Amino acid sequence: MAKAIEINNGNGFEMGEPYFCTECNRNHTKGKIYKEHLEFARINDSEEKDSNDKSENINDENDDEAELLKVLDDLEDDSNLNENEEINEEINENDDQIEDNSNNRSNKNECIAQVKKLPGVGEATLSKLIKAGFDSLEAIAYTPPKIIQDESGLGEKTIAKLIKASMEKLNIGFKSAEVIWEHRKNISRITTSSQELDNLLGGGIETGSLIEFFGEFRTGKTQIAHQLCVNVQLPKELGGLEGNALYIDTEGTFRPERIIQMAEGLNLDHETILKNIVFGRAYNSDHQILLVKEAANLIKEKNIKLIIIDSLIGHFRSEYIGRGTLANRQQLINTHLHDLLRLCDIYTDLAVVVTNQVSAKPDVFYGNPITATGGNIVAHGSTIRVYLRKGKGEQRVAKLVDAPHLPEGEGIFSITEEGIKD
Ligand code: ADP
Ligand code: MG
Repeated sequence: MAKAIEINNGNGFEMGEPYFCTECNRNHTKGKIYKEHLEFARINDSEEKDSNDKSENINDENDDEAELLKVLDDLEDDSNLNENEEINEEINENDDQIEDNSNNRSNKNECIAQVKKLPGVGEATLSKLIKAGFDSLEAIAYTPPKIIQDESGLGEKTIAKLIKASMEKLNIGFKSAEVIWEHRKNISRITTSSQELDNLLGGGIETGSLIEFFGEFRTGKTQIAHQLCVNVQLPKELGGLEGNALYIDTEGTFRPERIIQMAEGLNLDHETILKNIVFGRAYNSDHQILLVKEAANLIKEKNIKLIIIDSLIGHFRSEYIGRGTLANRQQLINTHLHDLLRLCDIYTDLAVVVTNQVSAKPDVFYGNPITATGGNIVAHGSTIRVYLRKGKGEQRVAKLVDAPHLPEGEGIFSITEEGIKD
C-alpha cells in the first residue's frame, strides 16, 4: 500500500519548526520528513521495531558525522556491490526490485562522489551539502546561491566557488542549438491513456517540463493526476517511464481506491502500483513549499519520474486574502514555482504536473472570462498549460493554451470507472 504521509501539527505550523506527525507519533525534522516517514513505514511493515533506533538525536554534530560516515560507507559498500553484482548477475536477474534499488543507490552515490571531488569540499562541507539535499553537481549549479546558503548554512564565498566549479564540470554556458536538440531528443513522455490528449500534448506528458492542468471543479484534474501516477510506472513501450510517482495533495482528494481501479483497468498489480506512489499531504502553503524541497532528496533514491501537485495555488489563495497581501503571495508562489522548475532542469527524466483552479475574472468582457488562479506568475512558470472544461456526460474537453513548441488545439477525453479513456 502507498503509505499515506499524514503530517499534522495543528494550526501553528512555521517553516523550519519541528512538527508533530500523528502517523508515527513524533516530531519531524526539516530536511528529513519523507526519509523519516519511509523509515517508519519500513519498520512498521516488517514489524522489526527497535526502540533504540528511534531515540531522538541529542547531539547535532555527532549526528552530522554519523550521517557522513554512513554515506561514505555506502559509497564503499556500493563499489563492492558492483563487483559482486557482476559475479552474481545471473542470480540477480530475476530480482528486478533489488537491482533497481541498488542502481538508484549507486546512481546517487556516484553523484555524491562527484560533489566530493569539487575543489574545497572537505567532509564538513560535504555533510552540510548532503543534509540540505545538494547531492549532485546539477543541484548545486542550478540553485540560486541564496537558497543554498539558507539551506546548508555554508558561507557565501564557498557557495560561489562551488557553483562555479559545478557549472564548469557540467559545461553550462552558451551551447549550440544542436546540443539543445540532442538534449530534447532524449525527452520521454508519459501517456495520459487518451490518444487525443496525448496527441494534443505532442505525444504525452513530457519530461523536463512543468505541465499545468487548469479548469473548474470536476473537470478531471485530479483524475488525470491519478492516472499519470499509474501510467508513469508502465514499461517504456507502453507509454510509461518505468519510474515512480510522488504525489503532493493539498486538497485531500487523493484516493487509493481510484488508483486500484485504474491499475486494474490496465491489468496491473495494484499493490505494486500503490507501493510505488510516494504520497504527501500538504496542510498549508508553508508545508507545501517544504514538501517540494524534501522531494528533491527522494527523486534519485526512490526512482521518482513524476511529481504531482494537486492543487498548486489553493492554500496560497485561502491564506493570503485581500489586496494588501497579494504581492507577498505572488512572491511566495513565484519561489515555489522556481523550486519546481529547477527540479525539471536538474532531472531531465522527471515530469512535473500541477493542477490549478480557475476563477471568474470580472473585468474580461469578451472571450472566456475564466482564468487560472495565481495570475501571470503561474502562467509564465508553466511550460505547457492545458485548460479543461466539461463536455457531454463523462466527456471532458482539453485545450492547449500555451506551449512553446505545439500548436494550439483541442482534444476530447472521457473519465470512466477504469480511468482516463478516449
Ligand atoms: P477536479 O477537476 O475537480 O479535480 P476530478 O478530477 O476529481 O475533478 O473529476 C471528477 C470527475 O471524475 C467527476 O465528475 C466524476 O464524474 C469522475 N469520476 C470520479 N470517480 C469516478 C469513477 N470511479 N468512475 C467514473 N467517473 C469518476
Ligand atoms: Mg481535484
